[in-house]
Amino acid sequence: MNVVLRVRGNPWWIRRIETVSPAVELSPEEKFRRLVNAALATPYFTQRERAESLLAAQSLKDIPVMPVRQVLDHKSHFLNPKADKARGMLRLPFASSACVVVGKKLRLPKGSTAIEENAIYKLHLSPTRMLAATPSAIRRICALVEARALALPNLCEAVVVLQGLEEGLLYAGERDMLWRCLGVPIFEQWLGLDGELLASECGVHQGMHFRGNRAELEEIDGGLVLTSWFGLRTPVLRVATGFKAEADHRVCPCGDDQPIILNLAMVQNAAKVLQQAAMA
Ligand SMILES: [Zn+2]
Repeated sequence: MNVVLRVRGNPWWIRRIETVSPAVELSPEEKFRRLVNAALATPYFTQRERAESLLAAQSLKDIPVMPVRQVLDHKSHFLNPKADKARGMLRLPFASSACVVVGKKLRLPKGSTAIEENAIYKLHLSPTRMLAATPSAIRRICALVEARALALPNLCEAVVVLQGLEEGLLYAGERDMLWRCLGVPIFEQWLGLDGELLASECGVHQGMHFRGNRAELEEIDGGLVLTSWFGLRTPVLRVATGFKAEADHRVCPCGDDQPIILNLAMVQNAAKVLQQAAMA
């Protein structure tokens, strides 16, 4: 007799599988070469000396650190025209039937919709159960809620904070403010320049799990230097983020053994660090 074991998909591990791209299986050398090739297609690295220096690099450590301002101020110079134009996929901490994304363009899972930051009024009395928004959009939402100009009667699941180099970070103490104002659990995320997920907070709420197979973080002069292996549309290698953080390498009670980033914040003397990186 044949016994057919039927397994119903658990949403949590289905999401885990979806996030694993075939590229994750590439060796570190292959990931490095793939990112270098993507960078060589951008206007910035087309310049001969820069291209030669990039081609001569044997590993990440051979590439000079670049201040993030240089990338953000000249973003078109760092765009790879050959890359897939698909945006990063929004990853929610759990499935939601009514999630609204504010202020960030991402590919959306089923049940999610997006609105522009200047259309926050559309949230008023809406069926929104989960919000995913940039720090600036969340601040505006909270200000309107506290002024009683915006009511979110159905918000009951979570607020996902979409942070990043362009989006900025929550300030110290803002999580408590969000909790008091919106009354739902906060899940912080760190997105790369193409909207790719670099780190995300789990249900234990002890920090953000850093996706070490997706990106490389170095600590230089007290600041974090980022290389995102999946940022092939805006390929940046060794970008001085101006962020600082602590790392916890203990296995999280959620079972995830990826290191946790704690207290991600702007470096006090970010300008000085960026200047030093530019001169290096
Ligand atoms: Zn965890």
